[in-house]
Amino acid sequence: MVQFEVKKVKVLGVDLGGTNIKIGVLDELQPGNIERVYLYPTQEPIYECLEKAIDEVMSLHPDIKAIGIGTPGFVDRKKGSVKFASENLPGWSGTEVKQKLESRFHISVIVENDANVAALAEVIFGAAKGYNNALMLTLGTGVGGGVIIDGKILYGPNGAVGEFGHMTLYPEGHSCKCGRKGCQEQYVSGHSLARRIREANMDMTPEELMQSKEHNDTAAAIVNEFTYDLALSITSLQAAFDMEILVIGGGVSHSANYWFEDLNKNLKNLLFHPLRVEVAKLKNDAGIIGAAQLIFMEG
Ligand SMILES: [Zn+2]
Repeated sequence: MVQFEVKKVKVLGVDLGGTNIKIGVLDELQPGNIERVYLYPTQEPIYECLEKAIDEVMSLHPDIKAIGIGTPGFVDRKKGSVKFASENLPGWSGTEVKQKLESRFHISVIVENDANVAALAEVIFGAAKGYNNALMLTLGTGVGGGVIIDGKILYGPNGAVGEFGHMTLYPEGHSCKCGRKGCQEQYVSGHSLARRIREANMDMTPEELMQSKEHNDTAAAIVNEFTYDLALSITSLQAAFDMEILVIGGGVSHSANYWFEDLNKNLKNLLFHPLRVEVAKLKNDAGIIGAAQLIFMEG
């Protein structure tokens, strides 16, 4: 009797966050297309929580051939370990993620920084599709990003390329959690918008601020200051990377329709040469799609 072996053609794309672990199932014949998503609350100890979640999904999908993981923090790409993660993920720093998961599940595992993973997804399937040299700037509670050169993620020896939030914008400016002063994160993050609102003695959310700028001069001034600082940040990045396109993602980008015109006005006076700037397209799926893409590209 001839026995046919089931060909393993599926991969898992894992988006590990401080609140949730999202696990997507993707088919290698349809990269960029998530078939199913499973959501688990992130609990301590984090590695055990991740392993249990993957185990559950793998028991439902026996045809998984590899796992791609995007995680916050500095990642040692070769070892697939987390060199450093913030206090949002207690105990996660130093975890040998690749080695532990591979010995548990006996399939290939790739681990990468989550902002790099999102940048990769946007370049291949999202707002920067068709471009080989792109930069993603993620404006969330903090500020991060990723750099894609010749279609590939740019790495540094410390896994820390794209820590744009800690480039200095105002040397004597607001204190940053990194211990220095005036970092970009203190001026263009969601957190910084909330601070600007507080300092103006206003009582509203950043979203409400954006919506009220047409009929509120104080709100309009804050939005202008914010987009000016963002434009300054972008010109420094252009000077360093000369990218073809910049994609803005993260929570702050969700209100971009209110402030994009202001940003373009400020950019016009500051850029060395014209730059295409777009808002991220893949939103919450970028982490899963990019993590799976690591496997399709290198697995
Ligand atoms: Zn800093």
